[in-house]
Amino acid sequence: MSKYWSQVVRSIEPYVPGEQPKDKTYVKLNTNENPYPPSPKVLAAIREAANENLRLYPTPTCDELRQCIAQYYGLAKEEVFVGNGSDEVLAFSFQAFFNPGIPILFPDITYSFYPVYSALFHIDYKVVPLNGDFSIPVEQFFENNGGIIFPNPNAPTGKYIPLEAVEAIIQRNTEQVVIVDEAYIDFGGESAVKLIKKYSNLLVVQTLSKSRSLAGLRVGLALGQKELIDGLDRVKNSINSYTLDQLALAGALASFEDEKYFQETRRKVIATRDNFSASLTASGFNVIPSKANFIFISHSQMNADEIYQRLREKGILVRYFKKPRIDNFLRVSIGSDEEMATLLQALNEIV
Ligand SMILES: *Cc1c(COP(=O)(O)O)cnc(C)c1O
Repeated sequence: MSKYWSQVVRSIEPYVPGEQPKDKTYVKLNTNENPYPPSPKVLAAIREAANENLRLYPTPTCDELRQCIAQYYGLAKEEVFVGNGSDEVLAFSFQAFFNPGIPILFPDITYSFYPVYSALFHIDYKVVPLNGDFSIPVEQFFENNGGIIFPNPNAPTGKYIPLEAVEAIIQRNTEQVVIVDEAYIDFGGESAVKLIKKYSNLLVVQTLSKSRSLAGLRVGLALGQKELIDGLDRVKNSINSYTLDQLALAGALASFEDEKYFQETRRKVIATRDNFSASLTASGFNVIPSKANFIFISHSQMNADEIYQRLREKGILVRYFKKPRIDNFLRVSIGSDEEMATLLQALNEIV
């Protein structure tokens, strides 16, 4: 605590990202990074963009990248917003669409950044308790609210709700914005992007960090009708007009242009997840069915925090959240087949 801190800085409890330890090489399955490298075409594009033009500011409107993403999703450029990671896009969205007063709604077990943004921007919120099996109780989002945000698939549970359920929530809340955080949608879910033409209150947020192996490049995006994108632009141009640097713009563009590589790596992660989930179940673990690049697991005979510690000693990092309802679960990112085999062996030794 410092006397120089503003009131809001004194009172907020910042988000704690998964650790990136440098003391030794871990099998790192704690931050949902993709085990596969970015497309070689992405790396080539970034190398090529590292030239004397870095002297200049990047284009503030990111037209080429937005046009490419628009075409990819069958939208107009005016329906695409890009930012420095989807965390930034989400933060801008809270500022652009949510107000103090009537609480916004999000699940009690969800991405821990939502309550942090709410506190930072003075937005009131109410959490909706997930059902006992961690599924999202759709009807609970029909009550009066100032806006809605949820990830689909949800994090850290990996649970997915079908597009009809997402649409029901959007349809019942037309007077406020519904944000669907699709950070993990490429791992087997159906995107709500196809509902954008139909609903002016829908904002879909995605990231290149997970399914496109570009967590280090920091690129996220929002898709929605022009009015919403204009709202995000107003926030961006009130904070930082150049949120994407020239290297990120070049790399992100190349990623969307290399569909073959994207499909290949995405399929590999899905296959590894499904195989690993089956092996874990056979080893006596409770595995929540996941449509993400991570799984949420527990074991009836040993506490999750103990398993977490024992794995750490063996050089394997997973994520443990000491929070109500989920403090006996571990979130395990899907790595390569070799990494998952190492983890499986370690888990079988521990429990
Ligand atoms: C990882 C993640 C993000 C943010 O990713 P960025 O790297 O900031 O693009 C957003 N939402 C959820 C639910 C996530 O898990």
